[in-house]
Amino acid sequence: MNNKTKTAIKLDRRQFLKISALATTSGALMGTSENRSPIKITNKCQRMDQKNTIFSRQLWDYEFVKRIESSIDRASMEALEKVKGWTPLDQALDAAAWALDHKFASGSEGGQPHSQAYEWDEPVRRKKVEFQNPKDASRKIKKAARYLGADLVGISPYDPLWTYSLLIKENFESEPGSDGKPEFEHFVPEFPFEPKSVVSIAVEMDYETMALSPSSLESAATGLGYSRMCSVGYSVATFIRALGYRAFANGNDVSLSIPYAVAAGLGELGRHGMLITPEYGPRVRLVKVFTELELKPDNPKAFGAWEFCKNCKRCADACPSQAIPTGEPTLEGKTISNNPGVLKWYIDPEKCIQFWRENGTDCANCITACPFNKPPMWHHQLSAGIVALPVAPIHTIMAKMDKFFGFGDVNDRRANAAFWEKD
Ligand code: SF4
Ligand code: SF4
Repeated sequence: MNNKTKTAIKLDRRQFLKISALATTSGALMGTSENRSPIKITNKCQRMDQKNTIFSRQLWDYEFVKRIESSIDRASMEALEKVKGWTPLDQALDAAAWALDHKFASGSEGGQPHSQAYEWDEPVRRKKVEFQNPKDASRKIKKAARYLGADLVGISPYDPLWTYSLLIKENFESEPGSDGKPEFEHFVPEFPFEPKSVVSIAVEMDYETMALSPSSLESAATGLGYSRMCSVGYSVATFIRALGYRAFANGNDVSLSIPYAVAAGLGELGRHGMLITPEYGPRVRLVKVFTELELKPDNPKAFGAWEFCKNCKRCADACPSQAIPTGEPTLEGKTISNNPGVLKWYIDPEKCIQFWRENGTDCANCITACPFNKPPMWHHQLSAGIVALPVAPIHTIMAKMDKFFGFGDVNDRRANAAFWEKD
């Protein structure tokens, strides 16, 4: 099944792959082939090859990598301190936040299927625990998921359309070839069981440090999100296996995440290509658990985000690389890392990642600037109710008021410097 190819390019993998929020965005789609969402999906929408995702292209797309690499070399810590004001404390927190991900799911940011916390074939309890019905099973799985650290959890049926047609996996164990390039595998996904249900889990990312985008402290918020993804995903998969049913967790590997999250009622797709949840806006990371256990699915829920996006372009304004479109939704992407055929706003992941390279770390301006990204305060709950009204002028005013009150500011170096002074 494995078609090994020695044609990879070595570069600063961690930084390149930390495209975090956009990990699922480059191919992000809305809804499922069973039409479980109001968004239009056409026949042009096909299964995507993981090789074409923006993060996997580093393994084989020489021209693209050369273009990105030619922009700027990764700055040293000293240079970053001087130019950006990021300190060794910031960078230490960043390293610590990513630590669990790197230890137990290394390479997962870019998608490293069938490995470590995201293995497919962990042992399963021999005797199955029986449930009254799929609804009963769903309730128990969700309760356990919340206990194990999920901030949001929903269930949808498995849909092969969202599984990558071919997977790509860097082989960290192998010796680099004579040309100094690491090996990778490119293979058809053959799971050890037929998945029936998908448990979609969202973990919240820290509000305060995410608001310091684009910086080393913001990268810590992202890293902690990734570490929590592998912890919660692996734990929930283990819970299901301990009940006697096969299950495995997957993050940015194996399949797209947003279609499942939408189908499971966790939120809507936004202009910036990410999931917008009513609770945390786009400030979440997603992990899925595929299982053979039959569960009762949730229904997609529209709460007004898609409508709101039509009149709000704050993410596009805050984007330093002009990667987010300001026009109407379309059916066509701009690069091979977009999967066409779904009516949505297609971001340009090449421009995005180019900025990451130039910036010296990742970026989350589009998450921070989004008016749905809020801490849980009463007036934000009130605004959430107004958002549901499909009235364009109200949405435009709300987006402006949000900015007026200082929410969603990015590039705030003073706030970055003040972080360690606050208890
Ligand atoms: S704001 Fe732009 S450059 Fe930054 S992560 Fe979002 S899309 Fe990428
Ligand atoms: S910033 Fe505005 S336009 Fe962009 S995703 Fe959020 S609500 Fe939609």
